[in-house]
Amino acid sequence: MNCRDHCGACCTAPSITSPIPGMPNGKPAGVRCIQLADDNRCRIFGKPERPAFCGGLQPSEEMCGTTREYAMLWLDDLERATRP
Ligand code: SF4
Ligand code: SF4
Repeated sequence: MNCRDHCGACCTAPSITSPIPGMPNGKPAGVRCIQLADDNRCRIFGKPERPAFCGGLQPSEEMCGTTREYAMLWLDDLERATRP
């Protein structure tokens, strides 16, 4: 499946532990990535400074569902399950 327009759930719900331009310590769970533009597209897509984590999250029916709300809940559950 393709990434849904105007979603951005996977750039908000998960924590990211590697540096992001503008967020040198990464970001906590539930916080919108600073590189997520108002149209919910990544400003640094395809650039080397984009964290490897982001490329690892591929759109899937399981993760994305049909709504942003579904994806946020699914990713919250993942975050809780993988918390150290
Ligand atoms: S959760 Fe899925 S649809 Fe939403 S931004 Fe991420 S990949 Fe795209
Ligand atoms: S760097 Fe881009 S893909 Fe990664 S979380 Fe931020 S906006 Fe999303």
